[in-house]
Amino acid sequence: MVSRDRIVNEFIELVRIDSLTLQERKMADVLKSKLEGMGLAVYEDDTGGKIGGNAGNLICSIKGTKDVPAILLMAHMDTVVPGIGKNPVVDGNIIKTDGTTILGGDDLAGVECIFEALRVLKEDNIQHGDIQIAFTVAEEGGLLGAKNLDYSKIYAKYGFIMDDGGKIGTVAVKAPSQNKIDIIVKGKAAHAGLEPEKGINAIQIASEAIAGMKLGRIDKETTANVGIINGGQATNIICDRLEIHAEARSREPKKLEEQTAHMKECFEKAAAKFGGSIEFKSDLMYPAFNISESDDIISILRRASDDTGIELILEATGGGSDTNIVNSKGIQAVDISVGMDKVHSVEEQINIDDMVRATEFLVAIIKNVA
Ligand SMILES: [Zn+2]
Repeated sequence: MVSRDRIVNEFIELVRIDSLTLQERKMADVLKSKLEGMGLAVYEDDTGGKIGGNAGNLICSIKGTKDVPAILLMAHMDTVVPGIGKNPVVDGNIIKTDGTTILGGDDLAGVECIFEALRVLKEDNIQHGDIQIAFTVAEEGGLLGAKNLDYSKIYAKYGFIMDDGGKIGTVAVKAPSQNKIDIIVKGKAAHAGLEPEKGINAIQIASEAIAGMKLGRIDKETTANVGIINGGQATNIICDRLEIHAEARSREPKKLEEQTAHMKECFEKAAAKFGGSIEFKSDLMYPAFNISESDDIISILRRASDDTGIELILEATGGGSDTNIVNSKGIQAVDISVGMDKVHSVEEQINIDDMVRATEFLVAIIKNVA
């Protein structure tokens, strides 16, 4: 039986540990000793050193008691800012903070669901196949932990990433790929009062480009945003250089390409019009994934839904997560709601019943792997 008290107490214990992105050492040590306390051998990979953090990903494998495909359970250890000195407050059925920091239910609720599920498997003597666990670092820093995870240790066929929000039973089965776009707009500096005709204004180039650009929700699968513009020195200098940071996402790779090309073209045309130039750089941050309703992993989820009475809600998300990376490594993976709410804000909270239900759902998933 899933224990509500155990979940609340341990979740609060985890929330109290500072674990900002790239500073997960304390959290990693606590999780490691908890896993070892369950009699499990924990391997920490060398990701920390590679990404400038102070901890690596934790990986451990539990031998199965029946012969079914191995599964990977995953959650990330890092939390966003403001996340130092998190002070959890239990208010009836809700856990929130004192309002000065985030809670870190993203993704300590995922970590907690996995721990409680492991205890329930053992106590209730539930038969299961091999289970691998990965607690990753630096998810919030661009999925760096998942990208650098030591996949030579992972042999699981299916992945269940406990890192989504929404009603319990919500499972993200489609997610977009994202291009990170960096643009430098180059004009020419000149005195704005004495000889403005000798200058080329980078701000004007960027304005023209962005005014004509398709942004926001492009279609059902595609979004785009210009998020940051930096540049300019003084009002009496024609601005000769701007740095612009933007993104495009789509669940359709071809549409992502088209949108990215469109954004580039807008800048090129505007630069040509004013006689300036641009440097345009686009990097794929993570690939899309798209699980079909007929895939085996969906059958496992359906059986878990039938067992628990938790309605299965398959969703297409607009966000990226470790799930994108795990899928790209050839492991069929989905992202499951643990009930995290208002994440990345000081109003973040979580409902205790939701964490209990999410754990029951996870136990049922493990039972129903075939
Ligand atoms: Zn998360």
